[in-house]
Amino acid sequence: VFQLSVPLNFLGSVYRELRQSLLDMETLFNLQKVNVAVKDKKDAKPLLLTAGEIKFENVTFGYRPDRPILRNLNLTIPAGKKVAVVGPSGCGKSTILRLLFRFYDVQEGRILIDGQDIRDVDLESLRKAIGVVPQDTPLFNHTIEHNIRYGNMEASGQDVIDAAKRAHIHDTIQHFPDGYATIVGERGMMISGGEKQRLAVSRLILKDPPLLFFDEATSALDTHTEQALLSHINSILKEKSRTSVFVAHRLRTIYDSDLIIVLKAGKVAESGTHEQLVDRAGLYSELWSETLFSGNGEEQIPNDYIQPPR
Ligand code: ATP
Repeated sequence: VFQLSVPLNFLGSVYRELRQSLLDMETLFNLQKVNVAVKDKKDAKPLLLTAGEIKFENVTFGYRPDRPILRNLNLTIPAGKKVAVVGPSGCGKSTILRLLFRFYDVQEGRILIDGQDIRDVDLESLRKAIGVVPQDTPLFNHTIEHNIRYGNMEASGQDVIDAAKRAHIHDTIQHFPDGYATIVGERGMMISGGEKQRLAVSRLILKDPPLLFFDEATSALDTHTEQALLSHINSILKEKSRTSVFVAHRLRTIYDSDLIIVLKAGKVAESGTHEQLVDRAGLYSELWSETLFSGNGEEQIPNDYIQPPR
């Protein structure tokens, strides 16, 4: 990708946008695994984003049709809200994000964004509207600055620094041998998983998309850095009323969501706020108790999380 980037610079905004959506694909999914069967319809229209509401209606999907992962799934991600999707490993959490990106089409039912079936909109406009912070962000063999600017090729040097500050990575970068000019990636300096995740967040801040997805996005960070970064992300989401979806294992990273959706065996087992779900004494409250009592260092809950503000 790095080798391509110089000539592509001369080919104008169409290529820039294409490259942007390629980056997003690449970061969330392994490119080789992308299903090329998903194509634009002849009369596909650009996605018209208004409020940013996402709906799954009776969605059934399996990577193999005879093995459904999501079964007749109904859920609504309200516009401008922070929504978490939790549940046992393998229940289909990341699959929901892959379907939203249209790397696969549903076998039954439909997915709507602001009332538009995502099969009717063009892929480029769909993917442009979405920003993702994945668990593992591939880096380009290029400078730190370039790696951040990938979120928005028009951004100035100062924009890049501001985004890095908001993602709590600026100070770290200043300690790298060549600061923002430090080459990273396979052929450059190796950086940690937590640093990569913060770079991914700074890219996202620069891209500033209307829909934001976080797939275990802070899993490699220590508790302190994670809390600081999450509170920053929360303030950005609130300030801009962005719709966001967090796929998470560690419940303490999402307990404050406007809505928590608990998946089990491809269906919504329960949903509500943290308080509602704890009161229900169902699957979520079971998972929450496990979180509270699994006091093994990293996973420990800060005191203010045991009694979330009412
Ligand atoms: P985790 O919490 O462990 O990340 P998840 O809830 O996000 O899990 P998914 O990644 O959505 O789960 O996967 C759901 C199921 O689909 C799993 O059984 C997984 O093995 C299977 N699966 C995922 N990707 C593919 C694929 N490309 N081809 C076939 N099966 C897949």
